[in-house]
Amino acid sequence: MFDTILIANRGEIACRVIKTARAMGVRTVAVYSDADAQALHVAMADEAVHLGPAPVAESYLRGDLIIEAARLTGAEAIHPGYGFLSENPDFVEAVEAAGLVFIGPSAKAIRAMGLKDAAKALMAEAGVPVVPGYHGAEQDPAFLADRAAEIGYPVLIKAVAGGGGKGMRLVEAASDFEENLSAAQAEAKTAFGNPAVLIEKYIQSPRHIEVQVFGDGTQAVHLFERDCSLQRRHQKVIEEAPAPGMTDAVRAAMGEAAVRAAEAIGYAGAGTVEFIVDGANGLRTDGFWFMEMNTRLQVEHPVTEAITGVDLVEWQLRVAAGEDLPASQDDLKITGHAFEARLYAEDVPAGFLPATGRIDHLSFPDLARIDSGVRAGDEISPWYDPMIAKVTVQGPDRGSALRKLRAALDRTEVAGTVTNIDFLRKLARDDGFAAAAFDTGLIAARGAGLSNAVLPTAREVAVAAVTAAGITPEPLQGFSLWAPLRWRITLDCAGRTYAPQIEMLAPDRCRVTLEDAHDTLAWWGGTWGLPALRHGGYVTVFGAATHSFAIVDPLARDTAAEGGDTVMAPMPGLVTAVVVKAGQAVTAGDRLVVLEAMKMEHVLRAPRDGVLAEVAVAQGQQVAAGDLVAALEPEA
Ligand code: ADP
Ligand code: ADP
Ligand code: MG
Repeated sequence: MFDTILIANRGEIACRVIKTARAMGVRTVAVYSDADAQALHVAMADEAVHLGPAPVAESYLRGDLIIEAARLTGAEAIHPGYGFLSENPDFVEAVEAAGLVFIGPSAKAIRAMGLKDAAKALMAEAGVPVVPGYHGAEQDPAFLADRAAEIGYPVLIKAVAGGGGKGMRLVEAASDFEENLSAAQAEAKTAFGNPAVLIEKYIQSPRHIEVQVFGDGTQAVHLFERDCSLQRRHQKVIEEAPAPGMTDAVRAAMGEAAVRAAEAIGYAGAGTVEFIVDGANGLRTDGFWFMEMNTRLQVEHPVTEAITGVDLVEWQLRVAAGEDLPASQDDLKITGHAFEARLYAEDVPAGFLPATGRIDHLSFPDLARIDSGVRAGDEISPWYDPMIAKVTVQGPDRGSALRKLRAALDRTEVAGTVTNIDFLRKLARDDGFAAAAFDTGLIAARGAGLSNAVLPTAREVAVAAVTAAGITPEPLQGFSLWAPLRWRITLDCAGRTYAPQIEMLAPDRCRVTLEDAHDTLAWWGGTWGLPALRHGGYVTVFGAATHSFAIVDPLARDTAAEGGDTVMAPMPGLVTAVVVKAGQAVTAGDRLVVLEAMKMEHVLRAPRDGVLAEVAVAQGQQVAAGDLVAALEPEA
């Protein structure tokens, strides 16, 4: 076994790897950017090396600096985590050329699976079922349109170099093909520097079921499947293992196909073979097709660890150190059921915009496994993925695991930044999800019901008011024996203003009046009926949903000017296109600037007709939320 390994990553996955390494007695070296000097993964590691400025191209993607850091600290092996350099074969070669071990597959295996078209051809050859379609080199639009017609609509256009759901277009009819093709090619060119696409049959009622594999370079085993059908825009939201409705026959067929895929490329380490499955009439041995292989540890690996009892990172280290596969196929068994939910700093009602901010409070219940890279007091910076934590639960069967998922999400508290927690809670209570009657379209089909802001109840406003006023009976603060004290507080929440009045009835009892309704709150068990906390100018109440109230200073209220003349960045991101120039006349709704933030593009548009006085950003520039993007000349 290694004495020291370096983890070429950050956030939850770096912390996750450090935990196992430490338990195995292996020393760990972290790397970090300027933005991460105080980050949890740096604090957890035995040693840490500074890489450079915050942008990933100057820090976490600098393979040369990372290898140098390994040399400097005596690390013998490098764990890449996921994302960043984890699927970069040139990095693997550089690591090996430096005499170090890459904890993962060979450069050759990564290259074999790197492009979706080549991977599909290889898999078809190895006898793995692939999605029917065209994955050849010819890219002429008329030729591709003919292939699409042959395959039969609906079809999916995919970037061969794609990932994270980018460069993918669903086409329902021949008349829409050309337009979607050029859009997909353009997106692929920008995102991956490679415009090539393939055409696939779009599987109806699709479910995403993937198989965890593990190889030693020659032989491979599988650790069963994960169902990742709960997706939003092709990105996973809640994952589970095993897949609902899985039969022994289908599991054996998918497992064998995945092992064949891994062995065909001499796979070493942890990998995932993703299949698209026709879920229309139950799972069938002839109803699953290879989509792609991810040649790394997957974000959702904890559900597999939960049902198999295997520590996949321990296996990665052991196999990379030259040991045999720690178990044979017959040793591996499924016990119970597990779910994982991905908790993100994002503004769901605003369209799932990535959010930033200081986490003032962070608390999780004991009943879940928490994989997190942040603590209370940490910033969610604009530079990286806004994931806060993965919440994983496990139970003897799907029903009990789902109950635990709901309870764990209900008792997850984050204050200081908006999160997707309420969206996750609603999703965990969805009837279709509970009945396992779902496909990848479930979240889209539910629409606003899952993503709308939930208004606070009168009780939640009352608790917010008392918390904002700082009233607690211990010590007897603000309470007078002679007369009931009264406060009026102004609070803003989700675009509404509340002006509740508080009256003390006793040190541990108060009456809150909101409009004409009264509510009496009693102090019990350290709260006024619901957990709540005041942080800076805000109060966050953890009720049926999480509500953050801004405490309004009534005098300051009217000074904020009503805009219309300026366009601000709604979130931190990278300016990928500037479509207009200063002095240009625009019409309300015209595209001004395209902003890219966390795998998504956002078009910023003109708020009204007018002439642009200023365009304050340039292509390639990083902007913070609230930065000025453009200004219109004042209206005459
Ligand atoms: P997965 O199939 O592992 O669940 P995702 O859809 O979550 O993948 O992510 C898509 C891509 O983004 C993958 O290449 C993954 O490695 C990368 N990625 C996802 N989450 C993070 C993160 N927190 N930090 C860095 N890269 C990430
Ligand atoms: P990425 O590299 O972006 O992860 P994938 O090829 O894995 O791309 O596809 C991402 C998601 O798109 C899948 O999880 C699935 O929901 C959907 N998808 C992909 N291929 C098909 C298909 N042929 N039919 C239906 N849905 C598909
Ligand atoms: Mg995928």
